[in-house]
Amino acid sequence: MRQCPKLPETAGKEVMVVGAGIVGICTALALQDKGFDVTVIDRDGPAEGASYGNAGVISPWSCVPQSLPGLWKSVPKWLLDPEGPLSVRWSYAPQMFSWLLKFLQAGAPHRLPAIADAMLAVNQPSVDLYRQYLAGSGEEALVENCLYLHVYRNANAANPDDLPWRLRRERGVPLEFLKNGEVQELEPEISPEFKSAVVVKQQGRTVNPGRLGKVLAGMAQDRGARFLRGRVDRIVPDVNGGYRIETDQGSHAAKTVVLAAGAWSLRLLSALGVRLPLEAERGYHLIFTDPGLSLTHSVMDADHKFVTSSMEMGVRSAGTAEFAGADAAPDYRRARVFERHAKALLPKLNTESTEEWMGVRPSSPDSVPYIGPVPGHPGFFCGFGHGHLGLTGAPMTGRMLAALVAKAPLNMDMTPYRLDRFNG
Ligand SMILES: Cc1cc2nc3c(=O)[nH]c(=O)nc-3n(C[C@H](O)[C@H](O)[C@H](O)COP(=O)(O)OP(=O)(O)OC[C@H]3O[C@@H](n4cnc5c(N)ncnc54)[C@H](O)[C@@H]3O)c2cc1C
Repeated sequence: MRQCPKLPETAGKEVMVVGAGIVGICTALALQDKGFDVTVIDRDGPAEGASYGNAGVISPWSCVPQSLPGLWKSVPKWLLDPEGPLSVRWSYAPQMFSWLLKFLQAGAPHRLPAIADAMLAVNQPSVDLYRQYLAGSGEEALVENCLYLHVYRNANAANPDDLPWRLRRERGVPLEFLKNGEVQELEPEISPEFKSAVVVKQQGRTVNPGRLGKVLAGMAQDRGARFLRGRVDRIVPDVNGGYRIETDQGSHAAKTVVLAAGAWSLRLLSALGVRLPLEAERGYHLIFTDPGLSLTHSVMDADHKFVTSSMEMGVRSAGTAEFAGADAAPDYRRARVFERHAKALLPKLNTESTEEWMGVRPSSPDSVPYIGPVPGHPGFFCGFGHGHLGLTGAPMTGRMLAALVAKAPLNMDMTPYRLDRFNG
């Protein structure tokens, strides 16, 4: 039986959250903690988007953006390799040009420290906040303590002086650098071909990201939130103040709106005339449903850039970045690639029975999510753009948005998360 903490009086404090991914769900919970009466609307059920099938890494120490100096040098090699970590559908390439330019600019060395600090502030409380939400629910085992192993074939590749590790070390991230043999001491199923590793300590992981989202949505519901099904077509200012949310099931009025529709958020801002850079960065997973082995930690094959971990439904490998637009049909060859790579990582893995999935990351150019009010539109707030780290950043994003909606003091600088930070 779930415990339902007593909540404050909510009369006159209604908020409509658009999107029931992990960000919308965590925002609903945080708004309830602040005494708001919450309705969440989604065209699908809770945690069915990107939040359903991710790699489950809850990574409080993540502070390294996707765009780094010199990254462009690896891009041609990745694009030419059909099994590489990056693919672009060429018909789509012109549409992402302006985002790509901003992405490359975000990787300028002088911008990295501020970006890393902003990422850390959103990600650091993640494990603690998930634990707080799950405490007393009977579902505490959905989040486990673990290590995050970045493993390399080259014995010298795990180098503390490389920029990504330097950025982390400068911020006090608890790291350990492993040499030959030490990798397999920590995770015995890893092939001896992997000769060095970096271990990020004090990590968390969920054994089922989709179920975690659904359990948290169930808690919000038990505490009085309404979860509606409907495709939101437009959000427009209402003549009586507030906003009209037009859906395929009719329209809703709301004085306060939080938009958390992941990769689809941008199109719902267009009726308000708001533009910002957001790209649909598609990723895939392959579950080995009868793996014949299990892992204790999250394992990143740093050469092929995918994460493998044990989950309730088997061993899941997840990753890759594909740019083809949010709504293009999946290309499951991208998921099949994991079969060979995961077998190379874990030689005893039984790859006979698999399930594949595609999800769409909402990616900002600087890997920092958009969290804050929509300028010029009172009562309209956004929380999206978490890219590779939305499972991790969701609980703190919820806290930040709830404080903004409540006009409560928030002891942090919100400038890095502003929606208009790429203007001008
Ligand atoms: C392969 C892969 C691996 C990943 N691994 C990790 C990881 O290990 N750790 C980590 O922290 N992050 C990871 N991520 C990233 C993470 O999954 C995302 O950043 C996060 O799920 C985004 O959450 P969200 O709530 O913003 O979006 P979503 O989960 O996509 O939710 C958005 C919701 O909005 C709804 N919606 C959209 N448009 C409309 C509309 N018009 N009307 C109604 N509803 C609408 C959708 O139905 C959806 O439910 C991974 C992502 C992928 C693809």
